[in-house]
Amino acid sequence: MEKIIEEKNQGTPLKLEKDNKNTRNLYIESYGCQMNFSDSEIVASILAQEGFNTTNSLEEADLVLVNTCSIREKAELTVRKRLEKFNAVKKTRPHMKVGVLGCMAERLKSQLLEEEKIVDMVVGPDAYKDLPNLIREVDEGRNAVNVILSKDETYGDVAPVRLNSNGVTAFVSITRGCDNMCTFCVVPFTRGRERSRDPHSIVNEVNELWVKGFKEVTLLGQNVDSYLWYGGGLKKDFSSASSIQKATAVNFANLLELVAEAQPKMRIRFSTSNPQDLTLDVIETMARFKNICNYIHLPVQSGSDRILKAMNRLHTREEYFDLINNISNILPDCAISQDMITGFPTETEEDHQDTLSLMEYVKYDFGFMFAYSERPGTLAARKLVDDIPEEVKKRRLSDIIDLQLKHSFFRTKQHLGKVEEVLIEGTSKKSELQWMGRNSQNTVVVFPKENYSIGEFVMVRVENCTSATLLGKAVGYSENN
Ligand code: SAM
Repeated sequence: MEKIIEEKNQGTPLKLEKDNKNTRNLYIESYGCQMNFSDSEIVASILAQEGFNTTNSLEEADLVLVNTCSIREKAELTVRKRLEKFNAVKKTRPHMKVGVLGCMAERLKSQLLEEEKIVDMVVGPDAYKDLPNLIREVDEGRNAVNVILSKDETYGDVAPVRLNSNGVTAFVSITRGCDNMCTFCVVPFTRGRERSRDPHSIVNEVNELWVKGFKEVTLLGQNVDSYLWYGGGLKKDFSSASSIQKATAVNFANLLELVAEAQPKMRIRFSTSNPQDLTLDVIETMARFKNICNYIHLPVQSGSDRILKAMNRLHTREEYFDLINNISNILPDCAISQDMITGFPTETEEDHQDTLSLMEYVKYDFGFMFAYSERPGTLAARKLVDDIPEEVKKRRLSDIIDLQLKHSFFRTKQHLGKVEEVLIEGTSKKSELQWMGRNSQNTVVVFPKENYSIGEFVMVRVENCTSATLLGKAVGYSENN
């Protein structure tokens, strides 16, 4: 899985099996990061209890929900275009209601509901349990809004339905919100303060997924390494917890161990790690358990100490290198990927060169690279001028992407000739005759189907590669089946 949903999957309507008892149709589209797609599964689960089946036809919908992303301006513009489309459909289906969910809710509620009047309902990421009430309000002809951010909502008690699932890999949310306050980032404002989910409910969800035949879970959070369960409540309030709560608290390394032990044949992944919070304990726990995959998504955002400081990333370039060295000493086969922002306010050519030289040192397996987009309300928007011209941002971004492609190819070539365990996820996009799966490092592997089946662990000899894909041939089953 990739932390960021591929561009072509953005906005794909999510659909699950029809329940004949249900009489209304919900059309739900999601944008942005995996957390949003995962939240849509919670929403569909809540609304299945309220008489809604999901549909992927807008023309059949009684309720249209769009789960939105605010991370960059482009994401918001895409959603706005979709809202215009929904309003056009509404002209022919006047009873159809439209709701905005997720990160754009808090920021744009009055604009969408009162000024532009293009939606009937606005619901923030912590208010999905209120959807049944809000829908009743809307049914009675009133606009409905709930964007209250919660101190303790984690949806730990909602069993998400799996939308558009391959039946093999699933996402399990472990934290909500974020306390990092990176100066470029809107997440703490749209998704609230950080809180962790009860580890028992996480392990239960993983166990249930195993019983249903799933073979891999990804533990999800904005900053998973910051996970801390001490009986509920915000992470920032941990210092005032009782001594017994402190003594029995569960951190991310403990949680990884609990999950890995609960299902020793299930692959465990996690995303996203923040360098300032990723501990040696976590890396050592990864090394101790064969079923925890050798892959860390470790966004750095910039290679310049000056820019890291301006971004309020709480580590230096040297500290990041120490972390990378620790990872490669303890987990020599571990793949590492990055997020990078180019063109942050005041970024000079020298800062840009620092980013390229950091990439040269790490040689990431892959990455997600973005031009800085000023987000209203963030510290950077309030204190700094977005002073890097668009064409400079574009040129620096293409330098970074070119270098990443070179490194990705360098990394995929290192797999040539090796026999690696691959979990089959589905048919290859390019050929009906080939399977597509991933190795432990999260690299896509494609190979002839022969008699193997979806959901099986297969040993594949890697014979060829591109910068993104390994091509090979199965040599037998893995002992993990
Ligand atoms: N905390 C999560 C993480 O680190 O992956 C989620 C953050 S966001 C969903 C994913 C990435 O978007 C960030 O790591 C950052 O590179 C990028 N991003 C966030 N704010 C941005 C902005 N204002 N402009 C450009 N890219 C941004």
